[in-house]
Amino acid sequence: MTEKTYTGGCLCGAVRYEVEGPLHPVHACHCRQCRRQSGHFFAATGAPKEALTVVSGTAELRWYRASAHAARGFCSVCGSALFWQADEGGSVEILAGSMDEPNDLRLAAHYYVADKGGYYEITDGLPQSRQGEEAAEASSGKGGEA
Ligand SMILES: [Zn+2]
Ligand SMILES: [Zn+2]
Repeated sequence: MTEKTYTGGCLCGAVRYEVEGPLHPVHACHCRQCRRQSGHFFAATGAPKEALTVVSGTAELRWYRASAHAARGFCSVCGSALFWQADEGGSVEILAGSMDEPNDLRLAAHYYVADKGGYYEITDGLPQSRQGEEAAEASSGKGGEA
């Protein structure tokens, strides 16, 4: 991962953002909330909150509180899922599919695989965690969080 600026945005183009690298490795989240929101599973990178700048569409960007401890940022025009942010902690997750390509991001792990959908299998050989990233990092021996 290199220190550079990544860009991305929603489907309709109203919300555009920039984020300063380096970014966290991409993880797939198979939890029920992510599957409901995305329609499949969720793949996100992450960065310190201060690294992310919404450059246009701050009025269109809305935050849905799916749980008591985190909110999900989406475009209120086109519905694109863009961000996930916990109230506590210093990082924001950014949906990998919203980022402009080409980029150097690669999927690195699967989280909450105990909650995955019954209609697909995970066959890429990447590390899997039944729950979140703490468990995945413990099992893979590498940390992505500051
Ligand atoms: Zn949009
Ligand atoms: Zn999830």
